Amino acid sequence: MSRMQLENKVALITGGGSGIGRATALLFARKGAAVAVVDLDEAGAQAVAREIEAEGGRAIAVHCDVSQAADCQRAVQETVAAFGRLDILFNNAGIIRRADVLELTEEEWDRTMAVNVKSVFLLSKYAIPVMAQAGGGAIVNTGSGWGLVGGRNAVSYCASKGAVVNMTRAMALDHAAQNIRVNCVCPGDTDTGMLRNEAQQLGATAEAFLVEAADRPLRRIGKPEDIAQAVLYLAGDASSFVTGTTLVVDGGGLAG
Ligand code: NAD
Repeated sequence: MSRMQLENKVALITGGGSGIGRATALLFARKGAAVAVVDLDEAGAQAVAREIEAEGGRAIAVHCDVSQAADCQRAVQETVAAFGRLDILFNNAGIIRRADVLELTEEEWDRTMAVNVKSVFLLSKYAIPVMAQAGGGAIVNTGSGWGLVGGRNAVSYCASKGAVVNMTRAMALDHAAQNIRVNCVCPGDTDTGMLRNEAQQLGATAEAFLVEAADRPLRRIGKPEDIAQAVLYLAGDASSFVTGTTLVVDGGGLAG
């Protein structure tokens, strides 16, 4: 029988209770990984962990605010306590506030940077020693097309995702010697709760917003599963010579 891609691996996935994180948690579990589903939304995380278990996989749910150091430390500890190791960290939890600098409040700026950027620092800080001790690992960070180009009325989000993209490169340099690869996936518009929340913030109907978002070479928006496949590649041995890179998964949106 052929080995499953993530057999014997343990993955911690933030924002695992919804959207891209949920799709990745389910895919990783189907590929043989034990998964810690980490989310601020406790019910969402538990539902995904139960879904994995119902399919015969191994999962735990961890309630965690990724902007808080103690929560991040506990998430890593609970993962190791449950599964004995940690091989893959998917830093994926994120929020968006659609506003320019004039509308954005200082609190909104701080919250976006804490959830989208500080979280990557905190979780990596606690996960890297555990990975290094076991001989290495893989970190995948969720950036965005808007980490590579600017977008209107999303100044804190663009700043945060630009930081994630370049932080990925810096971390790849620092941790290559520990055999830890660090890469970034940059989704384009993907059909999740976040996209519908953006429509609401901008006063648009979800239908109109989704039609506009589909205006790209492949003529559709992304599915969470499209992004999960890219994360699987970056997290698994198929990408063993890839580190410090950014993989854009956006139906060609940034191509022209
Ligand atoms: P989503 O809203 O479906 O999922 C985000 C998850 O993160 C939710 O379960 C939420 O509870 C969790 N979360 C939010 N704040 C948290 C916190 N402080 N601590 C722990 N968990 C927290 O959205 P999604 O689209 O799946 O987003 C996943 C990632 O993809 C985000 O980083 C987002 O910026 C990025 N992204 C999404 C799109 C898109 O179009 N959907 C495009 C580019 C990038």
